[in-house]
Amino acid sequence: MTSPLSYVQPTADSPWGTYLMQVDRVAPYLGHLSRWIDTLKRPKRTLIVDIPIELDNGEVAHFEGYRVQHNLSRGPGKGGVRYHPDVTLEEVMALSAWMSIKNAAVNLPYGGAKGGIRVDPKKLSNKELERMTRRYTSEIGMIIGPQQDIPAPDVNTNPQIMAWMMDTYCMNTGSNATGVVTGKPVHLGGSLGRVKATGRGVFVTGREAARRLNMNLEGARVAVQGFGNVGSAAAELFAQAGAKIVAAQDHTGTIYNSKGFDIADITAHVKATGGVGGFKGAEPMDGEAFWDVACDILIPAALEGQITAERANRIQAKLVLEGANGPTVPSADDILAERGVLVVPDVICNAGGVTVSYFEWVQDFSSFFWTEDEINVRLDKIMIGALKKIWDTADRHQITLRTATFAVACERILKAREERGLYP
Ligand code: GLU
Repeated sequence: MTSPLSYVQPTADSPWGTYLMQVDRVAPYLGHLSRWIDTLKRPKRTLIVDIPIELDNGEVAHFEGYRVQHNLSRGPGKGGVRYHPDVTLEEVMALSAWMSIKNAAVNLPYGGAKGGIRVDPKKLSNKELERMTRRYTSEIGMIIGPQQDIPAPDVNTNPQIMAWMMDTYCMNTGSNATGVVTGKPVHLGGSLGRVKATGRGVFVTGREAARRLNMNLEGARVAVQGFGNVGSAAAELFAQAGAKIVAAQDHTGTIYNSKGFDIADITAHVKATGGVGGFKGAEPMDGEAFWDVACDILIPAALEGQITAERANRIQAKLVLEGANGPTVPSADDILAERGVLVVPDVICNAGGVTVSYFEWVQDFSSFFWTEDEINVRLDKIMIGALKKIWDTADRHQITLRTATFAVACERILKAREERGLYP
């Protein structure tokens, strides 16, 4: 009886199409819960808003904004807000669905949500960025809240933007609801360790996977796509563990050095110039050649759809750590599996960020803040425990880590759905 959604037209490799395929693959492992599976193929709620602001030159500009709550069976919505010129409803839907899976995979008491604005924030002044953020927050104010749906940073959003969102929500509701967003500045109810948490989770899951592959991190060659919050923090931790960061790529260029970059130098260069392009400690390289680089570990930490079938055939790494959300299309997943390349999927690999977001939310409610050590110890414990359960599931059914993560997560979501009954 259920017909496909009329408001998006996914393709095999598009984000929502990729997600649908991933859900289909898990159906055989869900037992009697599989009768609820269509719940996962339709977001619970999608909100599209117009964001009109006055630019500094007096012109009026309109931006398209979204907040999608994919599933709320296990708790309030949770997931970031992305500012990017290519943001679409379809993309935000997929990102919100991956949040449902991710939050359930690490057993956080959240559903999944995501937001975005179709904008190139680099073209806005700081004041324009603030006006757009505040207006967007007001427009989605009807569905967010500390117990409803809790936004956080994602691509091109940061602690300052979270501070504006928190302030706008509090002023609109006459409350002091710091827990309405996470990823805030530390002195405004943010959590220590949040900024580097996603990269840390990539490292911790990567270290576990390397151990199981008998791969020594000392001297291992690492290639990183995307040198933002996630890629740079992961690269730093791998370098500290003795690995060599031999290649990096972002929107400013692609660079290579077989001896490995000096991590302090590249971090300083990216901070000063906004990207890896032009870094003196490496050679520039053709962008497409990035996928042929001789390396042991590949970390896609940029956007979706980067590992296509064609690129999957060329990847030299034995281990792929998905720092980004949705970097691998399903046909590429199959090729990597056939070639014996182990993929630690996004929905567990990059869950460190939302895990420390959860810690932030808990700390905000209790107004009692933990030390960075306490946070990192708890983060590592959750990530390692979640990965172990996923790995056992993969071994038991002889399935990929991605399908195993979906199996663990979908079972939790659909069990909650069934136990709650008619709603949510
Ligand atoms: N945007 C991050 C993610 O994709 C973090 C979300 C959050 O902390 O709520 O996992």
